[in-house]
Amino acid sequence: MATEPTERVRDFVRETVIPVEEREHGELHRPYDGPGIHPRERALRAELQDAGRDAGLATPQLPVEWGGLGLTALEQAAVFEAAGYSLFGPIALNIAAPDEGNMHLLLHAASPEQRERWLRPLAAGRIHSAFGMTEPPPGTGSDPRALTARAERVPGGWRLSGEKWFITGAREAGLVIVLARTSGEPGDAGGATMFLVPGDADGLTVERDVHTLDAGLYGGHSLLRFDGCFVPDDGVLGDVDEGFRAAQVRLAPARLTHCMRWLGLAGRAQDLALAHVTARRGFGARLADLGLAQQHIADTEIDLAASRALIRDAARLLDAGQDAGTASSIAKTFVAEAVGRIVDRSVQLAGGQGVSEELLLSRYWREVRPFRIYDGSSETHRWSIARRAVRAHEEGRRHDLAR
Ligand SMILES: Cc1cc2nc3c(=O)[nH]c(=O)nc-3n(C[C@H](O)[C@H](O)[C@H](O)COP(=O)(O)OP(=O)(O)OC[C@H]3O[C@@H](n4cnc5c(N)ncnc54)[C@H](O)[C@@H]3O)c2cc1C
Repeated sequence: MATEPTERVRDFVRETVIPVEEREHGELHRPYDGPGIHPRERALRAELQDAGRDAGLATPQLPVEWGGLGLTALEQAAVFEAAGYSLFGPIALNIAAPDEGNMHLLLHAASPEQRERWLRPLAAGRIHSAFGMTEPPPGTGSDPRALTARAERVPGGWRLSGEKWFITGAREAGLVIVLARTSGEPGDAGGATMFLVPGDADGLTVERDVHTLDAGLYGGHSLLRFDGCFVPDDGVLGDVDEGFRAAQVRLAPARLTHCMRWLGLAGRAQDLALAHVTARRGFGARLADLGLAQQHIADTEIDLAASRALIRDAARLLDAGQDAGTASSIAKTFVAEAVGRIVDRSVQLAGGQGVSEELLLSRYWREVRPFRIYDGSSETHRWSIARRAVRAHEEGRRHDLAR
């Protein structure tokens, strides 16, 4: 276990990041009518990332040759949780979504030239990136096969057309990784390809923001339009028509790192609640000593411990090069719901302050709610976990043989 980096991240978050988070009331993204990103939001990212670099802690998950600390998935679990203890920790360490998942994808699926062009500046924090998969109905959402965005073959490359929405960080992105259909029809299982599109490419427009509950992800979430946007052949990531398979390189680890970061924030929520109930007296006792308050406190400790165990179980499988699909689905479903329960209990224990701007808890409550929807909704994961369980049963595998 990477005790040393974890402790350094913990100290850095406490001493440097949390004061900035409190000063800004936990708001990174600011709605903006002008072009691009609100200047204060841009300045805040630079301030945090400079601090992370100065502390020697930026991009710790990447291999050493890419400027990181070469952490295993299990080591990342501890470091990302420590970073997530503040809403601003991940951006300070350059391990926030979607950049962290995109870096992982580029590391594992890109050609050496593509890595040099895109991973190098992303790892250094010189650019940020977006991942464009979701489309307005009837296009792809929970079901990837509903993909409607198209890429037509033209001399020297491809022309992309279609719409994407909820795309995090698309404003001012240096790179947008886009999934578009290169063959087949919406509903078909294959036929998708991933493209590396410069954020300022002709024919790519950020049409508008999609305003959501959260404000913790850089650039917010946008609706993008591709209007015959040209992408040369060297902008194809992986193989043509293999985009769904290549996307899996990103999706399983990315949903796990989301769990790690949000678990850190859930721990912070519990600490804020404990600070309140141990200081506040009522009914002849500290609130912390009243039975129903103790139940909230204990249930949160159970959720924290179970979440940590599931994350580390899936991380161990990833480190062993084994299929972590089911384990990461189980972890994602449980952790997304557990952090929601935890933050909600913390809000309750903090009373009026919990729903006010006196504490950061109401901000956290808004941040964690969407996690039950993105990276696969709870229902989609349960559906897939159940199908795998039934298939395993039909193949004769029983739970007494479980690892
Ligand atoms: C804050 C935020 C950030 C996001 N960032 C990005 C991004 O950067 N890039 C990107 O491409 N997308 C992004 N998304 C989009 C996200 O991936 C989708 O919202 C998600 O995949 C669900 O798709 P949908 O919204 O179209 O919901 P739908 O597909 O319409 O599903 C609606 C609901 O139907 C239910 N459902 C779905 N499948 C099943 C099933 N098999 N069984 C039972 N019930 C089911 C679930 O309750 C689900 O929530 C983001 C979303 C949010 C909220």
